[in-house]
Amino acid sequence: MTTPITIPFNKPAMMGNELTYIADAVRGGHISGDGGYTKKCHALFEDMLGISKALLTPSCTAALEMAALLLDFQPGDEVIIPDFTFVSTVNAFVLRGAKPVFIDIRPDTLNMDESKLESLITARTKAIVPVHYAGVGCEMDAIMAIARRHGIAVVEDNAHGLFGKYRGQWLGTFGALATQSFHETKNFTCGEGGALLINDPALVDRAEIIREKGTNRSRFFRGMVDKYTWVDIGSSYLPSDVLAAYLYAQLEARDEVQSRRARIWNTYCAHLGDWAGAHGVTLPTVPEHTEQPYHMFYLLLPSLDVRQALIAHLKAHGILAVFHYLPLHLSDMGRAFGGQVGDCPVTEDVSDRLLRLPFYNDLMEDEQMRVIHALNSFEGW
Ligand SMILES: *Cc1c(COP(=O)(O)O)cnc(C)c1O
Repeated sequence: MTTPITIPFNKPAMMGNELTYIADAVRGGHISGDGGYTKKCHALFEDMLGISKALLTPSCTAALEMAALLLDFQPGDEVIIPDFTFVSTVNAFVLRGAKPVFIDIRPDTLNMDESKLESLITARTKAIVPVHYAGVGCEMDAIMAIARRHGIAVVEDNAHGLFGKYRGQWLGTFGALATQSFHETKNFTCGEGGALLINDPALVDRAEIIREKGTNRSRFFRGMVDKYTWVDIGSSYLPSDVLAAYLYAQLEARDEVQSRRARIWNTYCAHLGDWAGAHGVTLPTVPEHTEQPYHMFYLLLPSLDVRQALIAHLKAHGILAVFHYLPLHLSDMGRAFGGQVGDCPVTEDVSDRLLRLPFYNDLMEDEQMRVIHALNSFEGW
């Protein structure tokens, strides 16, 4: 008989006003996109992060697709993407005919290895897409300097990193564009959702057009043009205001969300240090010059065999721990683009050994101690 899972890997948490705001949105009669709650979310991001424009989207994937459209990606253009990330980071560009160029990661933060960046740039490179893994900032000083020198756009995939900082600057405010995710596995959620953050003011008008099916509807509503018509390519990248209402309640509770997640992260860190040292396990690296938003807690185990045995051991204790990101260059699609074993050795190694522990706002201290005790009782080294 298998033990039922009593501590899941993730559980979306309601933070207070979600259902009240949803009811309000529905009663207000504007449940399509760009209603009152969408505008509140936009204003919150723009004020807090100090950016030109924020636009909610149905997902981070959709925001990445918008980024590829806005940068005018053409077949054969190249995009430099970390090998260790979610498929959407690359798919959005491949949809436009781009050729993905996978860059290996740093063994400490698991972010793109900026020392390898310059050698991957060609005359066709159109964008560099850093992913702030686990919300710990990539080495943005070096990445931005290289991008500037070659005139290449930077799009930050900030799905993990909302409200994190690199050298005192918010993540998501470095590149011309940045993307957020509000999927239920992220710090702030509305089930499925995302946002495009626009730091280059020159991209704002066209972003609104692309998001509104290629029409100038946004300008029409603001009274800036007297008719609303088809002006460019585009798609439907607006989420319903019902979802924005849910999201706004989450964002309003951001201090509470962040303090709960900080407590969970620090508890794992404080209780697992000695255990990790004794067994050759590495805990996450968070450099002094970065501030993380506590998106996840992961372990780097000594080997694939140990990781698989530990997953089974935790499962037998009713605890679900998961791994993620198979190296993109070795996926079926990656191989079709020429990926081969050995291309990104750090990703290949880390991908086998990484394990993510249960991490969600409502994870209680006694449940977390159960996870820690279960790790301590593991003997399959
Ligand atoms: C979750 C995630 C995405 C995709 O987000 P969706 O909102 O589900 O589209 C993209 N990139 C990274 C790094 C992610 O973790």
